[in-house]
Amino acid sequence: MISRENPARITEIVGHVPVTGPDGVDAAVRRADAECRDWSALPVAARAEILRECGETLAARQEELATLLARESGKPLADCRGEIGFALAYLRWVCDHAPRVLAPSEVDDGAGRLVLSREPYGVVGCVTPWNAPVILALLKLAPALVAGNTAVLKPSPLAPLTVGEVAGALPVVFAVHGGAQTGRALATHPLVRKVAFTGGDVAGREIAASAGAMLTPSVMELGGNDPAVFLPDFSLTAADYERLVMASFATSGQVCMAAKRLYVPRGRAAEFAEAYVAAAERVLVTGDPLTPGVSMGPVVSAAAADRIRALVAASAERGGTAVPLGRVAPGHDPDAGYFVTPVLVTDLDDAAPLVAEEQFGPAVPLLVYDTEEEVLARANAGELGLGASVWSPDEERAFALAGRLEAGFVFVNTHNRTGMSLRAPFGGVKRSGYGREYGEEGLLEYVQTKVVHAPAAFRSGGQGMAPGAYPGTG
Ligand code: NAD
Repeated sequence: MISRENPARITEIVGHVPVTGPDGVDAAVRRADAECRDWSALPVAARAEILRECGETLAARQEELATLLARESGKPLADCRGEIGFALAYLRWVCDHAPRVLAPSEVDDGAGRLVLSREPYGVVGCVTPWNAPVILALLKLAPALVAGNTAVLKPSPLAPLTVGEVAGALPVVFAVHGGAQTGRALATHPLVRKVAFTGGDVAGREIAASAGAMLTPSVMELGGNDPAVFLPDFSLTAADYERLVMASFATSGQVCMAAKRLYVPRGRAAEFAEAYVAAAERVLVTGDPLTPGVSMGPVVSAAAADRIRALVAASAERGGTAVPLGRVAPGHDPDAGYFVTPVLVTDLDDAAPLVAEEQFGPAVPLLVYDTEEEVLARANAGELGLGASVWSPDEERAFALAGRLEAGFVFVNTHNRTGMSLRAPFGGVKRSGYGREYGEEGLLEYVQTKVVHAPAAFRSGGQGMAPGAYPGTG
């Protein structure tokens, strides 16, 4: 049994889930496999309608689900409402667009009759993290199901409860619970035809290797160390600074596409830091996720808190200066949970672990640069390439630099969730993963193209072809 504590009040157990052993994983995959034939036989529009109704049922439970999510994840209630609302908006987007995107196409002309259809894989094994458990599961389940696949979901043991409720409200989804061992059993099951993973580098490499050993195709959404580049002409309003602060500190910085390295022109660094700290004072309020007005809760676990504090301590040893940010909510007890003081760290070099690694917590380095070529090279250094942002009132200049940044998604004049779009495919380059979620590409991730072809030469009245000849060669 897994017991999940509230990371803001660690003596409070929010709920339990059973650990699914190898036999349980096998049973879930077999049940999912058995459902494939009937589910995939439905027209895509019929599946979309069923999923749309599920979305409406879940929408009616939004407040209950958001509260549960806040209690198990430590994310402020408003964030949890936002995540569930956004996840359900994505589900609706999928239902609206799937019939068009997944429609078969047919050409019948002088070259023959060619039908291309979008076929489901079968059972999709989904392994997901805790930081945005509902949206990250629906980014896999919604396109997979609408395309005619069935699914087995293994959420993170650090936030299994809300997404368990969501999975339970969907057709042909089977949830299994546990840690790496359960994930491994799922990724290596011979009846799993596609593996969809979101999480960190270590698990990602192992899952990709296990899937590869089975020749199972996979989609990998991994970590990021997003640079935010402020061009010399940057011009930020108070609201821009507030948005920027939350682009780094929402979910206590535990977001794959958070702004994780801030690159500011040397001559404007002092002005930037002052306005940033002032904005944090206005919008960054640490406290219990259920307290109104709180915008930052705890981190997810004691291990995460220790890791982030160690990164900040190592920064101080390298000459970094940590400036505490924001306020605490009245009556807040930081010792009740896994709370970490949010900080902006100045005076660091790019080799400092806080800069070179994905910090995944509430500590952000402010780095200074001198030239655009230099900042481009520094932003592109490292193995990760998930998101990035460029800030400038000159949109052409911002787009030009964006084109040279090694990232799957570059935001202009914003960063993180405020820059997302349901229609824009999201995913990484380099070691941040492969495959895409959201948009049409996110739908196409869960289908294989099947071709049925009657060459003109062999149709009624056709001219035939010499045995063994290649078409179109005379
Ligand atoms: P994690 O990699 O520790 O765990 C992710 C999932 O994999 C969990 O369900 C976990 O139980 C399971 N798992 C762990 N080891 C496994 C193994 N060896 N075999 C099979 N399953 C295994 O990640 P996390 O701590 O839950 O999430 C944080 C990471 O996720 C960060 O690096 C973050 O950047 C990344 N992330 C990426 C995206 C994206 O869209 N690219 C989105 C959110 C989070």
